[in-house]
Amino acid sequence: MELFRLTIAEAQRLLAKKEISAHELLTAVFNRIKDIDNKINAYVTITEEQAFNRLKVSNNDTNNNTAIPIAIKDNMCTKGIRTTCSSKILGDFTPPYESTVTQKLIDSGYIFTGKTNLDEFAMGSSTENSGFFPTKNPWDINCVPGGSSGGSAAAVASDMCIAAIGSDTGGSIRQPAAFCGCVGLKPTYGRVSRFGLIAFASSLDQVGPITKNVEDCAILMNIISGHDPKDSTSANIKNVPDYTATLKNGVKGLKIGMPKEYFIEGIDKQVEGAVKLAIKQLEGMGAEVIPISLPHTQYSIAVYYILATSEASSNLARFDGVKYGLRVDGKNLLEMYQNTKSQGFGKEVKRRILLGTYSLSSGYYDAYYKKAQAVRTLIRKDFADAFKIVDVIATPTTPTPAFKIGAKTSDPLQMYLNDIFTSSINLAGVPAISIPCGFSSEGLPIGLQIIGKDFDEETILRTSYAYEQATDHHKRTAKI
Ligand code: GLN
Repeated sequence: MELFRLTIAEAQRLLAKKEISAHELLTAVFNRIKDIDNKINAYVTITEEQAFNRLKVSNNDTNNNTAIPIAIKDNMCTKGIRTTCSSKILGDFTPPYESTVTQKLIDSGYIFTGKTNLDEFAMGSSTENSGFFPTKNPWDINCVPGGSSGGSAAAVASDMCIAAIGSDTGGSIRQPAAFCGCVGLKPTYGRVSRFGLIAFASSLDQVGPITKNVEDCAILMNIISGHDPKDSTSANIKNVPDYTATLKNGVKGLKIGMPKEYFIEGIDKQVEGAVKLAIKQLEGMGAEVIPISLPHTQYSIAVYYILATSEASSNLARFDGVKYGLRVDGKNLLEMYQNTKSQGFGKEVKRRILLGTYSLSSGYYDAYYKKAQAVRTLIRKDFADAFKIVDVIATPTTPTPAFKIGAKTSDPLQMYLNDIFTSSINLAGVPAISIPCGFSSEGLPIGLQIIGKDFDEETILRTSYAYEQATDHHKRTAKI
């Protein structure tokens, strides 16, 4: 048995029955990383020594069944472990504290395999914007894994971890999950703590799981969800459901909305075909499919790129060479700021700081930032109206399967258009998942996105589970 291929649920069962040991599992995963990460480049930092030390300390080897090797996106602060955001400006930053999500995983016995690559500060859709190196897609190493959580998705898809954590501001969990054939869930805004997640756009960022199947996604949601007094935007809801308990409830009578704005000219025919077939299969299992409209969808990219860059320009002001991270000296304070920022930030990050500062400046605030906020409210209302009629909404996750490395790097607008089906979900704050629903003729995975009501991750997971059980896309593995 190749232990690195296991899911969380399978590994936990085998560990509990003592058919495998946590030490064997961890060894298998690190050997896998040593074998293939030179081809994929999913990890920025591999934490083998810390992992085995933690195993010793918690004595998981003999005593419990929760020592699951998990990879963490490198924008989550991990105490004592370098956290770079894939940026030169944080190239040697080691946080003195632990993010809430990683602390919850540690408390549940999970063991970190390392920190995964991302587009610098999570700004991108291909992981090509990493300040260090691009990550490759395990299904075709000439293609991108998606982004910004490309390292996490590639690590899951190539079994270099049992599961991973990502973050999603405009699609960064769902889009790489779709490109790499994984399951990826962006929870409702406020469901999961952002404490210790290095901020990109604070009103949009959410942390979530990237896994090999839907059950694992529910298992991780049980651990990471819930109110956190350290995050003032975390939702103060006492009861977090047991997401594994309702997985098997099926889709009989479930109303699935199909928004016409998501099945448009320009979308890849194979993606459209696979997604429509998947929705038909759900209908065959007892769901009712209802055509709906989300009329402000066409504005979502424009609104997203104004608001996300505005928030980023403010959030990234803290990287100035004074408090932490890179410092490049100069003749005076101003020159030190200039040298540090110009050498520390990459091209895309600089572009976004400029865009955001521009839309927030006094002459343009009303025309851009304020207008974008008003349209954001309309986008959120589109979803609220739709959810008066349907229980979930089904769409493609991305307009195309994974594209070739380098195909979009010279045209930022083409790259931004990749978020056409994912960014409005962050603007509205609602939860959404991407699950595998087929393959292109080139053998690249295709993702189905299922969007839910605020704090109704249960229904998304139950719908996804029903579909997954009736199909076998998730059983196909990348040949690497
Ligand atoms: N691709 C989008 C962007 O570049 C989304 C990124 C994200 O979700 N972190 O901003």
